[in-house]
Amino acid sequence: MNISSPNNLTLNKAKLNLISLLFLLTLISGCSVSDSDENQEDRAQEEIPVEYIMLTPTDFRTRIAEAPIAYLPLGTLEWHGEHLPLGSDGMQSFSFMKDLAYEVGGIVLPMLYLGPDMMMAEGEKELYGMDFWLSLEEGRTYMTPQQLDGSAYWVPDELFHQIVEQSIKQLARAGFKIIVAHGHGPSTRHVIAHWKEWEEMYDVLIYTCWSWNIRGENDQESSEKSNREGLGIMTDHAGMNETSLMMYYYPDLVKMEQLSPDTALWPLAVAGKDPRLFASAEQGQSAVEFQLERMTKLLREALQRILPASTGTSASKGAASSTSETSETAAAAKAATTG
Ligand SMILES: [Zn+2]
Repeated sequence: MNISSPNNLTLNKAKLNLISLLFLLTLISGCSVSDSDENQEDRAQEEIPVEYIMLTPTDFRTRIAEAPIAYLPLGTLEWHGEHLPLGSDGMQSFSFMKDLAYEVGGIVLPMLYLGPDMMMAEGEKELYGMDFWLSLEEGRTYMTPQQLDGSAYWVPDELFHQIVEQSIKQLARAGFKIIVAHGHGPSTRHVIAHWKEWEEMYDVLIYTCWSWNIRGENDQESSEKSNREGLGIMTDHAGMNETSLMMYYYPDLVKMEQLSPDTALWPLAVAGKDPRLFASAEQGQSAVEFQLERMTKLLREALQRILPASTGTSASKGAASSTSETSETAAAAKAATTG
């Protein structure tokens, strides 16, 4: 075809004008489409739940691309005084982790209600954890160890180890780079005892939510403030700290009236500051806000180390090995924390 003929030129000019017009229209409409797409995407991200069990694969991909963090609430079904629900440990860690996931990104796993603890068998009688720990206050009445109503969570260390190890392996395989595991004291302590080997085995970074951080990334000042003002996440047993957190997250489930009003009588198997005198929803809220800020900072720093490299291998390995000494010091200093 000869495009230089006058007729063809006119036709081509008309075509060009039409194409330009169409191009302009496309640009204009393209802008508005992409704007509205972006808005829709923002809205969709806000509406995507953070709970693992609620995500479709599409939601999962969105969340893990945003922040490859898995939160593992370490729960129990354990006596927490006459005033708190038996599932208090997992409920506190789950709720805190949900807040954290909405702040930082990531996905919250279902509560793992099985956990290790101190155990003693005498004939047919078996006692676990708080069955032994009936009063902590000097001068209070100590009672004979007894089976506390409702506790049903215990598994041997080796089994718990397998459950957590396999969970971390599966989560790493699914694409997670950071695991935050926290809750029931003995479960959290088990994670702290093995974090380094699991990091090396599965190329992930492992965190708990206690104030002192296992790899010593936390600053001394915030740790001291948290200890001084009771601003930790699950740092006693149904005392001021846990009762306050439950009052903040689940006010309708806390039954203070089921504790004796006589503060000379220490509540059975409660450890920490007297919840009747010191616990409040406001105290719980202060702890949550303080720890949300601290954990958000820690996890954002960890994400920055991991996200630029798609595998994150060198970043996470480096972080793990350079801080092992501080973690051991921190683990040794941990004895008083219960959860
Ligand atoms: Zn607890």
